[in-house]
Amino acid sequence: MQTERRIDVTVIGGGVIGITTAIYLELRGYDTAIYAEKVPFVDESSPEFATPYAAASIKPASVTFSGQERALSISQEIFGLFADAGSMGVRQQPHFVLYEEDRPDPGYADTVSGFRRISDIERYPHRPDATSVFGWQFDAFFAELPAYIARCYALYDSLGGAVHKRALTRDACRKLPGEVLVNCAGLGSKDLFDDPRPWMIYVGHQVIADGLPLIRTDCGELFSYNYMPNSDTISDGFTGEVYAYPRMDTVVLGGSRIPVSPSEEWKGHVPSASRRVGGVEVPSRIVELNNELLKTYAGVSIKEGNLTGRYGFRPVRDPDGHGVRIERTSLDDRPVVHNCGHGGAGVTLSWGSAAKASKLVGEAIEPDPAPLTVSREFAVAERLATRIRSNR
Ligand SMILES: Cc1cc2nc3c(=O)[nH]c(=O)nc-3n(C[C@H](O)[C@H](O)[C@H](O)COP(=O)(O)OP(=O)(O)OC[C@H]3O[C@@H](n4cnc5c(N)ncnc54)[C@H](O)[C@@H]3O)c2cc1C
Repeated sequence: MQTERRIDVTVIGGGVIGITTAIYLELRGYDTAIYAEKVPFVDESSPEFATPYAAASIKPASVTFSGQERALSISQEIFGLFADAGSMGVRQQPHFVLYEEDRPDPGYADTVSGFRRISDIERYPHRPDATSVFGWQFDAFFAELPAYIARCYALYDSLGGAVHKRALTRDACRKLPGEVLVNCAGLGSKDLFDDPRPWMIYVGHQVIADGLPLIRTDCGELFSYNYMPNSDTISDGFTGEVYAYPRMDTVVLGGSRIPVSPSEEWKGHVPSASRRVGGVEVPSRIVELNNELLKTYAGVSIKEGNLTGRYGFRPVRDPDGHGVRIERTSLDDRPVVHNCGHGGAGVTLSWGSAAKASKLVGEAIEPDPAPLTVSREFAVAERLATRIRSNR
């Protein structure tokens, strides 16, 4: 008869932060369980459940995070390992960052691979009537969603992790098993645990285009871009930039970054020219400008695809202060490690955040690493465990 697993650490939340943290802790040598109301791409999505909306690029991002450089470098290293292994739905692809006004090189120019100014590149996406275009290109890691999340859940299962689907209250958290609780409940954290710092939501609109021919660079590679048109053409500060992420079977087009207080009800008002796509009001620029860019660069008219509009919430904790919450508090004398509030950078910072949270768990309870036994399908987990256990 199989004995029931004794749980060292309970992870609350099963979005990208919860599943990554749970895998990280398992590989460090803890027995864990996830308790979550929803699992991405299995359960119905809603704007406050952020992971199903992630584009999901792994690139330096605009979120306040103490120790961001180190967290980003851990994430890049682990996503690099996945891209090499080819079994997790992660790849590296050219990403363009383009502006119609001059910009200095970004701070990350020396830390990403393949950084090149577009003045050194022959072809890149641009509006035909733009008088000038500036920017750069680099090789960005990219997680093909939903495949990546499904692979993470399968890996967690093969490590012995258990997932319990349950909507929790503050009181229910008290009754969870485990010596330590890890709060990865995203926006739900605000209701489950006290937090002295404010939260903000940045609404992000997307249009999903299906049924199009594959969109590739001239060399046949998948690619992505962010494009900021001339400020004269932008009427507000929230819906100027657009992006496109061609995936294997669809294209994710964005975007917007509209600030809303979590105490307000978002009524869906778009502060610039808008249009309805599948019943959802989205900034027109997402369709019009992306169509222009993709038509001239890759010869594909997205208007010929089946278009679906949607919006999701980027949950930002303490935007003008400490930022992402990775700290230890307690609940009835039991340690609680928080790992939440990643805004638009949850995928990007997922592995770095998990490393930081795991360190705090380690201050409360020692891991007990056993030799790893995973199926050959997850051979990459052995390399990942070596990386994680080396404690670099
Ligand atoms: C439009 C858009 C585009 C984005 N693009 C990118 C990108 O390209 N790159 C990137 O890095 N990031 C991107 N992001 C951000 C990314 O999606 C988020 O940072 C990330 O998904 C946050 O993950 P999370 O696990 O913290 O939260 P969530 O995904 O929201 O998960 C929260 C989990 O907690 C559970 N939960 C909450 N409350 C309770 C409760 N009371 N009881 C039980 N369970 C509970 C939920 O069910 C869920 O399982 C984007 C976001 C949006 C909206």
